[in-house]
Amino acid sequence: MTGSGACVQGLRYLWAAPNTILGLIIGVLLAGRFRRVDGVIEIDGERVAWALERLWVPAAALTLGHCVLGRDRAALERTRRHERVHVRQCERWGPFFLPAYLLISLGLYLVGRDGYRDNPFEQEAYRSERR
Ligand SMILES: [Zn+2]
Repeated sequence: MTGSGACVQGLRYLWAAPNTILGLIIGVLLAGRFRRVDGVIEIDGERVAWALERLWVPAAALTLGHCVLGRDRAALERTRRHERVHVRQCERWGPFFLPAYLLISLGLYLVGRDGYRDNPFEQEAYRSERR
């Protein structure tokens, strides 16, 4: 990575940091196991799995900035491609990622569509899996 490339990457981490910090706090509160994979912190564990199963859309994994919470290592590996798209989205949207995601989901739900599957953030991630 060149000097300016490292600088741009540093800004992406900074911009995504509010989400990353939220993910880290949740990971600590749920006593997860932390591991760094390609510049992303992956967290898994029994309590993490328990929480992910109880989301409004039960998930194998969930991305918050440069932090991915997963039910276990196998789930993190299986979903890595999909969740890395969300990492890139967090780098673009920064602190606006969660509000934008939730507002779009709510809007879709209100017009009778699927707030998860029809959400453009998810559609981009699912498209990457088919590639
Ligand atoms: Zn997704």
